[in-house]
Amino acid sequence: MIRSKTAEEISRIRAACAIVHRVQQELKPLLVPGSTTRSLDSVAESVIRGHQATPAFKGYRGFPATICASVNAQIVHGVPDDRKLQAGDIVSIDVGVRLNGYYGDGAFTAAVGPVSAEAQRLIDVTRSCLDLAIQQARPGNRLSDISHTVETQATAARLSVVRQFGGHGIGRELHEPPHINNYGPPGRGPRLQAGFVLAIEPILSLGRPEMRTGTDGWTTTTADGLPAAHFEHTIAITHGTAEILTLSSPP
Ligand code: MG
Repeated sequence: MIRSKTAEEISRIRAACAIVHRVQQELKPLLVPGSTTRSLDSVAESVIRGHQATPAFKGYRGFPATICASVNAQIVHGVPDDRKLQAGDIVSIDVGVRLNGYYGDGAFTAAVGPVSAEAQRLIDVTRSCLDLAIQQARPGNRLSDISHTVETQATAARLSVVRQFGGHGIGRELHEPPHINNYGPPGRGPRLQAGFVLAIEPILSLGRPEMRTGTDGWTTTTADGLPAAHFEHTIAITHGTAEILTLSSPP
C-alpha cells in the first residue's frame, strides 16, 4: 500500500533531500586521484551534521559509514576505506539523510580524471535512464512504466540491469513500499498518484548482470569485474511533471 504524502510531509522530505544535494556538491570536487573514499565519507558526515541532520545509512542494518562509495566493479553499498581513487576510476556515491523524521536519498556516478569511452558511456546512459524514468513518474501511469523505461534504455545501449536492486518509496522510512524494479513490462502495478514520493535508481553494468556480495557483507561487485553505475533521485509526483527533490541545496 503506497500512501500519498501531505504537502507538509513533502516539504520535510524536500528539506532532507536538499542536504543530500549539498553533500553531493561538496563531494564532487573531491573525486580526484589521491582522495580516499574514507575522506569523502568524513566530509559527507560533517556536512550532514552541520545541517543538524543525521546520516541515514550509518547504522542502518549495521552499515558502518555515512556514504556508500562503490568504485569500478563495485556496484552499490561499497564501504568507504583507505583506497585512493585513481585516474580512470568511476565512483558511485550514495547519500542518505534523515532530518526532522523524514528521509532523502540520492546517488550519482562520476569519473575520476579521464576514463575509458565505455566507462563514460555507462555513466551517461545510466544518468539518462534516470531522467527518462522520472519522466514516466506522473499521475495515470503505472509503477512499472518507470521500470520498463529503465530496462528499455539499458538494453538499447547493450548495458545490463543489475536486477537485485531497485528504487523504493521514501518518507518516514528510508525504504517504504513500493519496490521499483529496473526491468519488466510496462502497464503493471499501482497507478501513480500526486503525492507519491519515490527514490528512483537505475543501476547498470557494462557487462553481465550477475553480482557477488563481498566478505564485508555489504560491498557488491559485478561477477565479471566490469564497471557498474548508479544514479538516484528522490522525486515527488505532482499533477504535472515530477518534482526532483534531490536537485537543489538548502535555502
Ligand atoms: Mg535508495
